[in-house]
Amino acid sequence: MQRDIYLSNHDTYASGPGNSKARFDILKNYFGYTAFRPGQEEVIDAVLSGRDTLAVMPTGAGKSLCYQIPALLLGGMTVVISPLISLMKDQVQALREAGCQAAFLNSSLSAAEYGQTMNQISCGKVKLLYIAPERLQKTDFSFFANGETIQLVVIDEAHCVSQWGHDFRPGYLQIAGFIRNIKPRPVAAAFTATATPEVREDIQRLLKLRDPFSITTGFDRPNLYFEVQKPQNRKQALLQCLEKRKDSSGIVYCATRKAVEEIHQLLVREGFSAVRYHAGLDDAERRANQDDFLYDRRMVMVATNAFGMGIDKSSVGFVVHYNMPKNIESYYQEAGRAGRDGAPADCILLYNGQDVQINKYLITHSEDSETTDPLLQEHNLELLKQMTFYATVNGCLRQRLLSYFGEAAPAYCGHCSNCLTAFREIDVTLEARKIISCVYRLRQRGRSFGKTMIIDILRGSKNEKILRSGLHTLSTWGIMAETSARRIRAILDFLVEEGCLLLEGDEYPLVLMGRAGDVLREERRLMMKLPEEQKESKPVDLNEDSGAPDGAAPMRRGTQRAPDAASFDHVLFAKLRELRKELAEKEGVPAYIVFSDASLRDICRKRPVSLSGFAAVHGVGSVKLEKYGEVFAACIREYTGDSGE
Ligand code: ADP
Ligand code: MG
Repeated sequence: MQRDIYLSNHDTYASGPGNSKARFDILKNYFGYTAFRPGQEEVIDAVLSGRDTLAVMPTGAGKSLCYQIPALLLGGMTVVISPLISLMKDQVQALREAGCQAAFLNSSLSAAEYGQTMNQISCGKVKLLYIAPERLQKTDFSFFANGETIQLVVIDEAHCVSQWGHDFRPGYLQIAGFIRNIKPRPVAAAFTATATPEVREDIQRLLKLRDPFSITTGFDRPNLYFEVQKPQNRKQALLQCLEKRKDSSGIVYCATRKAVEEIHQLLVREGFSAVRYHAGLDDAERRANQDDFLYDRRMVMVATNAFGMGIDKSSVGFVVHYNMPKNIESYYQEAGRAGRDGAPADCILLYNGQDVQINKYLITHSEDSETTDPLLQEHNLELLKQMTFYATVNGCLRQRLLSYFGEAAPAYCGHCSNCLTAFREIDVTLEARKIISCVYRLRQRGRSFGKTMIIDILRGSKNEKILRSGLHTLSTWGIMAETSARRIRAILDFLVEEGCLLLEGDEYPLVLMGRAGDVLREERRLMMKLPEEQKESKPVDLNEDSGAPDGAAPMRRGTQRAPDAASFDHVLFAKLRELRKELAEKEGVPAYIVFSDASLRDICRKRPVSLSGFAAVHGVGSVKLEKYGEVFAACIREYTGDSGE
């Protein structure tokens, strides 16, 4: 089959309607998908027409296909430079499962394996070669059989070439020289998810791209559902979150190693199948735990941010942040590890005001010489403010995230906890005056306190500190006894935002009087948006009725139909997962490489009982059809009692 689609060696690829069919055939036959995602076709066309390319696309957008399809269409071999050994292995396994000739060269290979791979390369049996940048100079590519050549060099995670980026990798600086030495010069295509203008500039200059076709696709990930909770009891909230999502595999991010240990213990005690990951564990345990998660032997990974870079597991159904990260970039990157396969996935932040204080402390007390720079600290505090704003905003969460990345988005996405919560605009003037008066009376006595104490006074608490300080004799003591602490806190926060009250101090800020004269004199009314009630956020299956099980037909923001999660067959899904796991174990690959969750969901929906039915399933190419079609169809026949006659 492969031979039909390859162009012969040294053919240059002419674009035209015939070739648009060729790339579409590959999309279906090898990868089992029926439509390109935004940006993919443009990049494929540019590369095939011989033009250097620089593509900036978010995590999960499908950058790999943008070079894998040209690699399969071009003659000769494509070299893919990739920074992480684990990613290479993953990609090569996935390509082989799909029936493509792929291999990798890195330090994890034994001498014998290395020799074997070099041998395959020289016989022209490798279409896609993944390689670590440090190996480029050491590897001799001069002995291809039949005069084959390297026609395309791909630089994945291209931001690693820039010292401005977070993952600078000196080996990337050798890539330009490597490309220059290949005759004739191959096409160079660079890919990354994160590129500020400086980094993009660096990529083009340091990789010596020639007049590249540049494309940046949007940051939106329509299949991700965003939610912020402000729970009284975070542990309980976490347990509830996980209980609701027992069907799927996910990550719980914590801020510190200590928190990882604590949460991991809690989850194990509560009967969840969880593992942990942080920099304090030895290499062997980290690797074992990571594999348990990748191979679906354990469902929940509890980790610090040390876990993630290099994890390509496509079927992550949720990412919960137990602590708030220190900026939106980190949040979006970590949360974005959910739903890479395009299936619906949830990103939940459990917010607690303490996280702000802890992050502030970390930013201003860091010993790291690089971060003691006062300008940088100020910058980081500003980023923290933006993150806090996301956690406390009443408007659309998706819009907040996208506008942070400079992208315009409508004020309603219909697929985040804020859009799904009804807010009511209510007059809080009277309550506001009570709160402000309390702060004012305290000031008359020469006292000031933090939020919790003010709330206690207003609610008429008789705790020891209040009695000892004689605060129960204040005229404002107990004037809000009927109001919940949660509501008082929300209004208090609002008054701080409005400048009527001020917060002073970092770790335990005191509440002070601001500009509140007009409110106290009843010259100004205060209107505030308060949630009517926090609705149950059900995990949403976007695909139930769309017929397009992937990101191919992303739902339009703000115009989604009411999701119909009720019709989803969880029993069948669990059965298919089990089957997938068995097959993956037999093959020695992670389960998501056999089929993604998006594929399993599509099987649930289509219930194919024959091979021809199975061929229409999302992610089923011809090799997978042959390999797995019959077992899955048999499983469906058994489940439905439909013999397919
Ligand atoms: P990136 O490198 O941009 O983070 P990947 O290339 O790893 O993303 O792709 C993420 C997932 O999306 C993979 O499971 C891939 O198979 C899937 N995918 C890519 N393109 C398509 C498409 N056109 N239709 C459906 N799924 C796709
Ligand atoms: Mg990638």
